[in-house]
Formats: sequence, C-alpha cells, structure tokens
Amino acid sequence: MIDVNAIRNDFPLLQQKIYNRQLVYFDNAATTQKPQTVIDTTNEYYQKYNSNIHRGVHSLSEKMTESYENARRTVKSFINAQHQHEIIFTSGTTEAVNLVAFSFGEKFIKKDDEIILSQLEHHSNIVPWQLMCERTGAKIKVIPATYTGDLDLSAYERLFSEKTKIVSVNHVSNSLGTINDIEKIIQIAHCHNVPVFIDGAQGIHHQPVDVQKLDCDFYAFSGHKIYGPTGIGVLYGKEKWLNEMPPYKGGGDMIKTVTFEKTTYNDLPFKFEAGTTNFIGAIGLSAAIKYIEKIGRQNIFEYEDMLLKYATEKIKTIPDIRIYGTSENKISVISFLVGKIHHFDTGMMLDKMDIAVRTGNHCTQPIMKFYGIEGTVRASLSFYNTTSEIDYLVESLLKIKQLFA
Ligand code: PMP
Repeated sequence: MIDVNAIRNDFPLLQQKIYNRQLVYFDNAATTQKPQTVIDTTNEYYQKYNSNIHRGVHSLSEKMTESYENARRTVKSFINAQHQHEIIFTSGTTEAVNLVAFSFGEKFIKKDDEIILSQLEHHSNIVPWQLMCERTGAKIKVIPATYTGDLDLSAYERLFSEKTKIVSVNHVSNSLGTINDIEKIIQIAHCHNVPVFIDGAQGIHHQPVDVQKLDCDFYAFSGHKIYGPTGIGVLYGKEKWLNEMPPYKGGGDMIKTVTFEKTTYNDLPFKFEAGTTNFIGAIGLSAAIKYIEKIGRQNIFEYEDMLLKYATEKIKTIPDIRIYGTSENKISVISFLVGKIHHFDTGMMLDKMDIAVRTGNHCTQPIMKFYGIEGTVRASLSFYNTTSEIDYLVESLLKIKQLFA
C-alpha cells in the first residue's frame, strides 16, 4: 500500500506553486522529480567526499571509488544481473543505445545484415541504429503496431531471416504507455539465435525487472526517469557480449597499457567507461533505487495502475476526447487530443492552470505518423500523483474545451 501524502512530503519540488495553485506534475515520462534523499546524498558527496575515482590512493578517492562501486552493486541487485561487471554506467539510455549500436555493430554487423526495431520506438532507439546501418550497409526492419498501440507479434516473427543480427525494442512506449510483451519478443528472437536489446527508459521504474529471468541480452535505463539525477544511466549487457564488443569511446580508465604502437583495453566494466564518469550521479542513482525499493516496485505498479484506470475513465467522459494507446497492458501514461484543439494550445492552457503535461510527438514521430497526427497531449503519472489531481485535470480540460468552443 502506498501512503501518497507521506510520499509527497519527500519531494520538495511538488510543494511549490507555479502560478496560483500547488503544482500538478504530470510530465513524469519526460523526467521525474527527486526525493529529498537523492538531493541530500548528492549534496553530501559534493560537500564531503568529492574526489576522482579509481586513480587516487588518498582517503577521499578511496571512499569515492568504494561508493561508486557500491552504487554498481545496488544496480546489479536491483535488476538481478548475474555479475557486477555487467553494469556499465553511461550518461543515460541514449548513450547506452549508441554504445551497443556502435560496438555490437562494429563486431557483428556487416553489409546486408538486418536488425529489427519497432514502430513504437523513441528516436533514440532508432537513430543510433540508422547511423550504424550507414556505416555497415545493414538494413532496418520494423515490427508494425496495431491501432491500440500493441506490437503485432505474428508480423514480428515473419521479419526474421538468417541475416537478422539483433532486435532492439522498448519495454514500455513513452508516447502511448504500452507495456510490450518483451518476454515473448526475447523468446522468439532467441529461437532464431538473435540477441535482444531492451530500451527500459520507461519500464524500469513502473514494475520489477529481472534481467536474468527475462534473459535479455542488453537492458538500458536513465537515472533521471527513475527519481535519480540527470546525466547518469545504466547499460546492462550479458558478459559474453560485452567481452566480445570493442570499446565505444577511448580515454582514461578504459585501458590497461598504452604505447603509441598498441593499446590494450581494461576489463569489464571499465572498458566501456572512458574518462571521468558521473560518479556522484551514480551514487545519487543508487539513493533513488534504494528509495524506490523501500516503497516497493509491486506497490508502485499497483498504485499507478489504479491511477491509470481512474484517469482513463474520467478523461473518457470528456466529449470529443481521443485517447491514443489503448492497450490492455499499459503503464500510467495517457496520450490524448481534445476535439480540434491543438495539443500545444491545450498544454499552454493547462500550464496556466498549474498542470505540467508534455505536448508534441514525444520523440516518436513514426507512431504519430501511423495515427496521422502531429502530436498529442501526454499526462504521465507517478506514484506521487493523486486522484484529486486527476479530477482537477479533467475539470481544467472541460474549461479549455469551453473556451475554445
Ligand atoms: N527511450 C525511451 C522510451 C524514452 O522515453 C527516452 C526518454 N524520453 C529515451 C529512450 C531517451 O532517454 P534519455 O534522454 O534519458 O537518454
């Protein structure tokens, strides 16, 4: 059970007014707010312990290194990876996709090979693969979506050929909220001996994730969407792939020996962590994970599911509303348009009523094109949101509708 009032007190930003009323923050799919513990932990490390990791023998550097590696351990158990060195700290999901598209592409993909993406992908799980295809001459195949915003898995099965080298799909769609059946997607790919990359940017914080049980080959997420700091993220990769993949970036920490003739690379995970990483970000992320675990991911899932059902029923009562993404398996994201009102106007008016939502194509132009629209208004809900905030959203949308009538 979630005590939403107690939880809200943990988030200082939620206490403020933007114009006249206490902020209603419904833009959680873009980024989440930070609990006091994440802010305090980050401040404390800057104030008391800041010192570069891995390279120092002095106490501060040793303390920092130990805390950074503890953060890696926290992530490892959070997603139940088999080994700690399978956790690579990146700057976010985008960097994780770029890393795999580059390194996996360098090693395993050649001209005329094929990779499979889906129509629901965020641009950051499309463009890095296109860059890889430009370099290698490989081709992209796309799993089509149905009108409800689900992936057509029988069409998916038909996309495989002996040239398929990797599948990369999101766990949860950021613009529609669909929870993809990644267990099945992975199972089908593995029947064809093809590895799977899961973009977990919208999946990890809404429900429990066990990478060993899923048997995914890669899983990526961003700190800032999981109540942690910006500029930090995670790439999980199975040891066997990460060991075979060449480095993505060169620099300090990722080497064993350097001469002008030849450089040898460090072991995992450092081979993929060139230069000074966002080590305090990683510690902040670990504070966020501990905070989430205290609430419990199953509790979070159940509470947010209640919010989703409540919001969907309420929003549906607004005349001329169109909801995009009506899968039976959804997280708490509602994308919609009201009558002929431009999504941008709706967003601007809601802002004046102290409600923060996102408008536009949500970096998912292919699925917007499928629906024949430019964009939507997206309300994305978190465990710190309430049913009375949803009531206020619906009331405000009705007012906006009247104003535009
Ligand atoms: N994938 C999905 C599904 C996302 O929602 C986002 C962020 N909107 C990303 C990838 C990219 O995440 P980041 O910008 O944190 O790297």
